[in-house]
Amino acid sequence: MRPNIKNIAVLTSGGDAPGMNACIRAVVRTGIYNGINMFGVLQGYQGLINNNINPMDARSVSNIIHLGGTILKTARCLEFKTEEGLDIAFANLKARDIDGLIVIGGDGTFTGAQRFAKKHGVKVIGIPGTIDNDLSGSDFTLGYDTAINTVIEAIDKIRDTADSHDRLFFIEVMGRDSGCIALRSAIASGAEAVLLPERETSVDELVAQLESGASTKKSSSIVIVSEGHKDGGAYDIAKKVKERFNHYDTKVTILGHLQRGGSPSSFDRILGSRLGFAAVNEILKGSTMQMVGLRGNEIHTTSIEDALTKHSFKLENDLLEMTKVLSI
Ligand code: ADP
Repeated sequence: MRPNIKNIAVLTSGGDAPGMNACIRAVVRTGIYNGINMFGVLQGYQGLINNNINPMDARSVSNIIHLGGTILKTARCLEFKTEEGLDIAFANLKARDIDGLIVIGGDGTFTGAQRFAKKHGVKVIGIPGTIDNDLSGSDFTLGYDTAINTVIEAIDKIRDTADSHDRLFFIEVMGRDSGCIALRSAIASGAEAVLLPERETSVDELVAQLESGASTKKSSSIVIVSEGHKDGGAYDIAKKVKERFNHYDTKVTILGHLQRGGSPSSFDRILGSRLGFAAVNEILKGSTMQMVGLRGNEIHTTSIEDALTKHSFKLENDLLEMTKVLSI
């Protein structure tokens, strides 16, 4: 029998990611389809504390599936990390008889959700929304695919100018702890080298790689640097390499926050829709402290605990090896 759940709220928290709107739309409409009163919380956990919680209907999510960002806004909220903050948030949900909460965000968001659920017994389901693809339990997180597409579109443009002037470009992409964006975009853009936070690549190794390309008459080179690389960002690496390798004019581009924006790819729209639909169905089954994700193209449920603690950044050495072979 279905648990007696009448009211569910949804929020987006932490870093925004393309596809969040498609996901909000799916959550709201799946809830309404099942006879649930749906609420949207503005600005993540800050909105729970500030009582910024508004009813949503099927029309309040019309025409948003193609939009980047999040119509519910997002925030980083320090107060939610305090016991008092958790209590105020709970009082605001209780006043509206809201017994289920769906959070779309990354590992920080899930940590908060878990504390909140444990302390106050609210049923919480997490949806992985982060461009970093750094949560275990889902092959893909929402926004990751769009971010890679944005990165490769930018690199393609940089390649045009790099090639025309015989330039060496160092392009810094997002990913403090996870080299997923860097590695995938290196493959998809045909970069000459990639530096990942998970792996130490010495300047010697990089210079040898670039020299080998120059000796076979490459007219330009692109090196992708993950922002979390141990030897520093793209500017630091470029400086070190320039001292030793002077075949090309050297330039640096930091792609920065443009990687977070833009209209979601079809993959992220579909992923957001599937995960939003699945999250509501999980809550209606009575589940709590679970994350819905995608594994092998099937919806897969993992405990938030496992999504957080088992997350290991397993470097895909086979892909890295392939990148080297394909860039000779
Ligand atoms: P992301 O979800 O993208 O990883 P953050 O790490 O900024 O982003 O986390 C988002 C929000 O989650 C934080 O601003 C805070 O409100 C909440 N949060 C993070 N850690 C905790 C915690 N230990 N207890 C309660 N809330 C937390």
